[in-house]
Amino acid sequence: MSQAEENKPSNFIRHIIEADIAANKNAAKVVTRFPPEPNGYLHIGHAKSIVLNFGVAQDYQGSCNLRFDDTNPHKEDEEFIDAIKADVEWLGFNWSEQHFASDYFQKLYDFAVELIEKGLAYVDELNAEQIREYRGTLKQAGKNSPYRDRSVEENLDLFKRMRAGEFADGEKLLRAKIDMASPNMNMRDPALYRIRHGVVHHQTGTEWCIYPMYDFTHPISDAIEGITHSLCTLEFADHRPLYDWLLDNVSIDCHPQQIEFSRLNLQYTVMSKRKLTQLVEEGLVEGWDDPRMPTIAGMRRRGYSAASIREFCLRIGISKSENSVEMGMLESAIRDDLNEHAERRMAVLHPLKIVIENYPQGQIEELDVDNHPQQPEMGKRKIPFAREIYIDEEDFLEVAPNKKFKRLVAGGEVRLRNAYVIKAEEVIKNEQGDIIELRCSYDAATLGANPEGRKVKGVIHWVSAEHAVPAEIRLYDRLFSEPSPDARANKEDRAFTDFLNPDSLRTLTHCYLEPALADAEKAMTVQFEREGYFCKDPATTSDGKPIWNRTVTLRDSWAKLEKG
Ligand code: ATP
Ligand code: MG
Repeated sequence: MSQAEENKPSNFIRHIIEADIAANKNAAKVVTRFPPEPNGYLHIGHAKSIVLNFGVAQDYQGSCNLRFDDTNPHKEDEEFIDAIKADVEWLGFNWSEQHFASDYFQKLYDFAVELIEKGLAYVDELNAEQIREYRGTLKQAGKNSPYRDRSVEENLDLFKRMRAGEFADGEKLLRAKIDMASPNMNMRDPALYRIRHGVVHHQTGTEWCIYPMYDFTHPISDAIEGITHSLCTLEFADHRPLYDWLLDNVSIDCHPQQIEFSRLNLQYTVMSKRKLTQLVEEGLVEGWDDPRMPTIAGMRRRGYSAASIREFCLRIGISKSENSVEMGMLESAIRDDLNEHAERRMAVLHPLKIVIENYPQGQIEELDVDNHPQQPEMGKRKIPFAREIYIDEEDFLEVAPNKKFKRLVAGGEVRLRNAYVIKAEEVIKNEQGDIIELRCSYDAATLGANPEGRKVKGVIHWVSAEHAVPAEIRLYDRLFSEPSPDARANKEDRAFTDFLNPDSLRTLTHCYLEPALADAEKAMTVQFEREGYFCKDPATTSDGKPIWNRTVTLRDSWAKLEKG
C-alpha cells in the first residue's frame, strides 16, 4: 500500500457519499461503476476515474462495476476490451460485475417505447443540418421540428420500422420531446436513437441497426445496475438535467446521483483517445504501449508501478477545478516508489574502456554488494571486478573544467563505486584525437576503506568489461515539447502533432550492464546508479540484445551519491 492509500482520502465526493450513508439514503450499499468506451487504451486520466470509483467502493464496503459503454460500434474493438480489462486489473482493482451497455439494448428499446407512449419522444425526419439549424443557439431559442407533434401511434410505428431496418442511416431519428427553448442545449429535444446500418457490433453482431445515444444509455444503464453514485467528469454537468429527466420518466426504481469532478489534464501530453489513436495510426509512436504514451500500457512498459500510479491519483485529489498537472507531480510519485523499492545496479551508458595496469592479469574478485543502500533486507549480489572495466566517458576529462568536477581527470583519483580507488595514469587516443582508452592504477588498500593520507571525493560507476552484458538503452523525454499541445494547436490553428518533441526518444545501442542483470525478468525495474531508474523491455533488439527503458531520471542525480 502506498503512503496516501493508508489514509482514506477526503474529497467533496466522499463527503457526499458519507452524508448519504449517514442518512441511510441508499439503504444497502454504495455502488459505483467505471464506464469506458472500448475505442482505445486507457490513459492516466482514466486511472484517476478508476482510483476514484473503485477506491470509493472499497472504502465504503460497496462495489464497483466495469461497464463497457459500447454504443458507438464502428469505433470499438475487442482488442480494446481486453486491454482495458488487463489495465484495470494491473492497476490493482477487481470489479464486482462486468457489463456491456449493449447487454441492455432490448431494455433500452423498451424504455424508448415507453417514452413514445407517454408522448415524451418522437421520430424526427429533419436531416443533420436542419437539426442543427432548428436547435438554435445559446442566445436564441430553438424551434420545434415539424414532425414533433406526430401521434403516439405514428411514432410507435415509425420507431418499430426504424428497428426493422426500413430506413436508411440519417433518414429518421428518435428524439426526446422536452423543450426547444431550454437554456440548456442538451434539453432541446436530444437524440435518443440513430440508425446505423452495416456495422457489426462486437457484442451484438448485426442484431441491431438502430443504436441508442450515450446520453440515453448512460442513466438507464446506471439505474439497471443499481448504481448509487454515478461519478463523471465536468463536461457532463450540463447533461445532468437530461440524466435526471430520463430517469424521472421511465419506469425504473433506481435513480443514481450523478456527481461531476474535473478531468485530469497532464502537461506535455495529450489525453483524448482520438488524438492518441492518431499518434498510433500515423506511426508517430510505436503503439499504444509506447513508453512515451500517457496510456496505462505505456506507463507499465516504461516501468511505472501500479502503486505509484494510484499514489499519483490520490495526490492530485478530486475537485471541480480544471487545471493542468505538471509532469513533475507524476514523476515524483514514480521516483518515491522506485527509490524505496527498486534494487540498485550498475550500467554504463557511454562506455570508455579502462585498463588497470597494476591489477593482476586474469584475477577476478567477486565483490559482495548491497542491492539497496538503505534496505539490507533486499539482500546482496556479487559483482565481478577485473583488470579491464568500463566507465562512462562523461566521468573522465583530461582537465577538470571547474572545482565542482568530482569525477576522474588525468593524474587524478576517483573511487569506483563498491570497489577501489583508481588513478588515471595515461590517456590513449586514436588518430582523430578521440580518447579510446584509459590506463589506470588502483590502490589495493582502498576496498571498503579510505585511502591513506588523502581524500578522494568522487565516486563513479563501472562494470567489468569481460563480464558486462551488452544492451540497448532507450532514454525517453516528454512526448511533446509544448506544455499544452492541444491549447496551442487550437490557438494557432495548427495540428497538435506539430508540437511533438523530436528528441522524445534517444537510443543508445552500445551500453553495458553488470552481469547480475543478465537474467533480469521482463518488466523488472532497477536503479542504474547515478543514471536513473530503468525497466527491462519485453522486446529485444534484432540481434538479441536486451532493451532497457529509462523510467525516470534521478531527482538530483549527482548531489546524493557524492555526499554519501
Ligand atoms: P477520451 O476523451 O479520452 O476519449 P472519454 O471520457 O471519452 O475520454 P471514456 O472511455 O468514455 O473516455 O471514459 C471512461 C471514464 O473515464 C469516464 O467516466 C470518463 O469521465 C473518465 N475519464 C476519461 N478521461 C478522464 C480524465 N482525463 N480524467 C478523469 N477521468 C477521465
Ligand atoms: Mg467517452
